[in-house]
Amino acid sequence: MEVNLVFIGPPGSGKGTQAKMIAKKFRLMHCSTGDMLRDAIRNGSPSGIEAKAYMDRGDLVPDSIILKLINDALTIGSSGGFILDGFPRNETQAVELDKLLQKLKRTLSFAVYFLVPDDEVVARLTGRRVCCKCYANYHVSYSKPRKDGICDHCGSELIQREDDKEVTVRNRLAVYHKATKPLIGYYKDKGILKYIDASSSIGDVSRDLESVIKRG
Ligand code: AMP
Repeated sequence: MEVNLVFIGPPGSGKGTQAKMIAKKFRLMHCSTGDMLRDAIRNGSPSGIEAKAYMDRGDLVPDSIILKLINDALTIGSSGGFILDGFPRNETQAVELDKLLQKLKRTLSFAVYFLVPDDEVVARLTGRRVCCKCYANYHVSYSKPRKDGICDHCGSELIQREDDKEVTVRNRLAVYHKATKPLIGYYKDKGILKYIDASSSIGDVSRDLESVIKRG
């Protein structure tokens, strides 16, 4: 049975980190709309240029751009299962995802909701540093690189994302509460919502997530 997951949670809840680990373990395609947008910006594509201003403010990028990325990824990109990390982020996207999956004759297994308090989110995100090349994540207090400012994996420079500055983090949280959190009700009504306590360690969250997936 194909495992198709949606990860929902505030920014900084660890969705991306967990999605990478779980995708590797269960051989799923990891589809992060945030990473795709950052790639589009780096490549200088028209959608990247349009998206950048929204991202720098911490606002949602227009649905038309996001839906095209997801449509391409799911139509061309995957035959096995998938994890959608950071998508959907509002009800329009959730409804459009349902339509796309119906067209592709695929179904969602679960929507996983990552629970973490707002204060913890602010501490995690404002201290986060990201490799400018391979996107590996670090933290100034909890997860330091071996050499200050340098990625352990590829030796490139670590940077603070523009949208991890405190004022933008607060806006991203406000956007999350207004637009994305209502999706909890959307997936609860469909009977596919699972909760994960995302305030514990990376290892504990990953173990909880694995058992949720294995229990089915
Ligand atoms: P993330 O890396 O998932 O935190 O996403 C970074 C930024 O990309 C967000 O703050 C949004 O500006 C944009 N973004 C990512 N995914 C979406 C989405 N599904 N809908 C709208 N904007 C998105």
